[in-house]
Amino acid sequence: MKKILLIGTGGTIASEMGESGLSPELTSQQLLRYIPDIEDICDVRCVQLFSLDSTNIQPKHWVRVADAIRERYGEYDGFVVSHGTDTMAYTAAALSYLIQRSPKPIVLTGAQKPIGFETTDSKQNLRDAFTVAASDMTGAVLVFNGKVILGTRARKTRSKSFEAFSSINYPVLALVQDGRLIRYIRPECAPEPIFSDRVDDKVALLIPGTDCGVVDYLLERNDALIIESFGVGGLPTYKAGDFYQAVKRGLDQGKTVVMTTQVENEGSDLSVYHVGTVIKRDLPILEAYDMTTEAVTAKLMWLLGQTRDQGEVARRFYVPVASDILAVK
Ligand code: ASP
Repeated sequence: MKKILLIGTGGTIASEMGESGLSPELTSQQLLRYIPDIEDICDVRCVQLFSLDSTNIQPKHWVRVADAIRERYGEYDGFVVSHGTDTMAYTAAALSYLIQRSPKPIVLTGAQKPIGFETTDSKQNLRDAFTVAASDMTGAVLVFNGKVILGTRARKTRSKSFEAFSSINYPVLALVQDGRLIRYIRPECAPEPIFSDRVDDKVALLIPGTDCGVVDYLLERNDALIIESFGVGGLPTYKAGDFYQAVKRGLDQGKTVVMTTQVENEGSDLSVYHVGTVIKRDLPILEAYDMTTEAVTAKLMWLLGQTRDQGEVARRFYVPVASDILAVK
């Protein structure tokens, strides 16, 4: 029987109702008591790293989860991380960079309703996560409402219903139906994973049109800036191109700037409109293409944890990790 480690981090799945609303209270051991039949699928051990609403999860927590897996990697056949849904896609992306090419499954799951509620998706999601963790799936994946989504492609697209996550610009890897895994894609892996333990959390995000003083402010205090633009992407050219000039100042100081899009599907293409072509021609700005903003954020934090060289960050940004970017032109 496969040996699986359940890593508890908090979230709705582990929450109870208090005077000021839901907050995570249950440990991973307590979660497991709600699904006693899991003994038929695998042999589970538990560890509780922290109990946080995932709104409070920071890059240092990603590193703690990755470290917990690295320290016990040899002892287990797979890992389940129970996590709040709000930032689960960021953690799924981060684990895809911090633990690359894992031959063992690292499965994130959570729920929209707490496990103690009469109507809940917690038990099904947890059971499905163990089914995937005990299978021959590889790498960091997110399991939710019967879907298995690649860690670099997950996004929370519904705030209330059970169908909370979508796979963006990439097919769903597998389905779990009545406890059976129907696998379409098995991510590439290596005999041993490659672990990293350093991230740089100085990455900011903004939308164009903001006062350009905000661009200067953010680039002074951060190593990278993600601009979530409109449509296929571009920078405003009004007011004598103030926004453009502010971005240029940051790039001239060796900072990294990535253009992504607010549109959920199909990604960026700065080569289409004048507002995009001029910046791509004149500035060393990067573009996200088909990557999610969640993956861009985690990838920049991971990359900047490895190097501060602007050219090296640019080169490695476009090297696919866990199929995170495939549509580079
Ligand atoms: N606010 C919760 C969290 O992200 C929501 C959830 O888990 O569904 O921790």
